[in-house]
Amino acid sequence: MRKKIVAGNWKMNKNLPEGIELAKTINRQVEDTKVVVILCTPFIHLADVARVISKDSLFLGAQNCASEASGAYTGEVSAEMIRSAGAEYVIVGHSERRSYYKESDEILNKKVKLALANNLIPIFCCGEVLAERQTGKHIQVVKSQIEKGVFDLSADDFSKIVIAYEPVWAIGTGINATAEQAQEMHKVIRDSVAEKFGSSIAGQTSILYGGSCKPSNARELFANPDVDGGLIGGASLTAADFMGIVNAF
Ligand code: PGA
Repeated sequence: MRKKIVAGNWKMNKNLPEGIELAKTINRQVEDTKVVVILCTPFIHLADVARVISKDSLFLGAQNCASEASGAYTGEVSAEMIRSAGAEYVIVGHSERRSYYKESDEILNKKVKLALANNLIPIFCCGEVLAERQTGKHIQVVKSQIEKGVFDLSADDFSKIVIAYEPVWAIGTGINATAEQAQEMHKVIRDSVAEKFGSSIAGQTSILYGGSCKPSNARELFANPDVDGGLIGGASLTAADFMGIVNAF
């Protein structure tokens, strides 16, 4: 069944005590509703946050994983380690990973497969930069990211993943995509999934919107038929803002 999801991406914010505190507050406030709420914390927070979340609808995720399974990769954290710390989700292909750490479609495809092999659900991100939208290439860019990142999965594996459309120009800028822009791209994504894997799988795929989503615009964005929730950066750092978005459903 297609899930409604609100995932917080803390990025490189909150030291360990602050992160635990935030997770505890959210855990207290989350009601066991139909919305799946996910906290994507820094790696070192995972095991501790796993111990303080107890609600059935609250889950833990990482923000990245290694593109290799194990071995001599200094500083890397494997999908297996993330799973063993208690996480069930992992963000793969966030635009900050693509641009600052030069993660290619090929590397991201490896990460998605390792995540799935270790029972983690990848939240696979895609999205165009401003120049691509201004030159009318946004649809082509997003389709290509998805095709190269996740279209070689088996139908069974694909049906486990979550997609997040995050226009890069909207991330952390305060300028969100309009409800129309979000719906247009989400429909393009769902249609390409339908073409590749069939309409039943497409109908069950959760597609999240990310980019300056906040309590004041969440309702309008989530009201679109192909927008199944949000991936939230800045507004996930306070329980009040984050819960305001969760409660927008
Ligand atoms: P933002 O970030 O909500 O701060 O724009 C979203 C994201 O990067 O996932």
